[in-house]
Amino acid sequence: MIESSHQQGSLRLDLLGYTRDQFESLLLELGEKPYRTPQIMKWLHHRDAVDFSQMTDISKPLRTKLAAIAEIHEPEVADEKRSTDGTRKWLMKARSGSLFEMVFIPEGARGTLCVSSQVGCALDCSFCATGKQGFNSNLTAGEIVGQLRVAQRLLAPDYPDRQRVVTNVVLMGMGEPLLNLDNVIPAVAVMMDDLGYGISKRKVTISTAGVVPGIQRLCETTDASLAISLHAPNDELRNELVPINRKYPIAELLAICRQYANNLGEKRTITVEYILIDKVNDQAEHALQLIELLRDFPCKINLIPFNPFPGTTYKTPKRQAVRAFQDKLVDAGYATMVRTTRGQDIQAACGQLVGEVADRTRRQERYQRITAGVA
Ligand code: SAH
Repeated sequence: MIESSHQQGSLRLDLLGYTRDQFESLLLELGEKPYRTPQIMKWLHHRDAVDFSQMTDISKPLRTKLAAIAEIHEPEVADEKRSTDGTRKWLMKARSGSLFEMVFIPEGARGTLCVSSQVGCALDCSFCATGKQGFNSNLTAGEIVGQLRVAQRLLAPDYPDRQRVVTNVVLMGMGEPLLNLDNVIPAVAVMMDDLGYGISKRKVTISTAGVVPGIQRLCETTDASLAISLHAPNDELRNELVPINRKYPIAELLAICRQYANNLGEKRTITVEYILIDKVNDQAEHALQLIELLRDFPCKINLIPFNPFPGTTYKTPKRQAVRAFQDKLVDAGYATMVRTTRGQDIQAACGQLVGEVADRTRRQERYQRITAGVA
């Protein structure tokens, strides 16, 4: 068990990503009592311990054992940007050395943390900047939870009157969470656990481009909220925008989502994300098809005006076009919000996360040298 728990990139156990159950098995293996689990988890997630020696209510022999086999590892902050609208974006370094991004979006009493699940992404959706850089690596469960731990700590001084600054977590940063479920499932469990961060299951949202077998697995393992990146009302157009649709077409995707929502019960709904791209999927016919497609599907709809990034030919629709699209859905009875673009001045908006280093030109030059065969 201890051997198999070793996670990517390190020989030590990555404790920040350990669920309550995993701690209990580990303690059993170490010949320790299960009641140590809450003690250790509180040190890790409530008191921000950086070292086992701080855990003074735990016996010295156990601390020594833990220090020998395990570690408390957070992703390192490499850079930080603040938007004029209060949005903050951090460039973070994974254990693998790769850089990825995390974004915090304040909205009144709500504070949403957008975390990454992978460095880069393998899916190559035509409108997404992350996909353009390709896939680099999976983040470990500890690195996913670690983002929340780092964010809470860095944000606390700015919000001295709040006990909890991050009220919502969305896995909508870099990567496709459902292609890294071995790490995402435990990470989300820790975020929702009272011994972890105690965020309600309704406020932790896993977003997917539509990896159907992954949703099947979620049905068996979590009750977090689910968002799907639909973006098109028919397979022909979706094949173009979200290529994984060729493998898992819309009907299959909606069927498994319906099952997920049914499993959760309690009137839980699926969030349908729909990017609006000028003249591509924002016409009246698309709205009407969407209304038909989602009839009786338990959902709320988020419209996201396309966020441009360097090199794309897609355009953001005019405000009136967004409004017209929204009105059609609302008139048909759908709860439909337009997601306002936040943090655009720091390239922190949806689909703009690329984990780029501050000095982009240097990377560009290196790329040119490589392609010219001189590197
Ligand atoms: N892979 C997951 C999570 C990451 S994307 C998924 O596809 O859901 C998070 C959200 O941002 C998705 O809805 C995604 O489609 C959207 N997005 C990506 N690029 C965008 C862009 N350029 N403009 C607006 N939204 C974008």
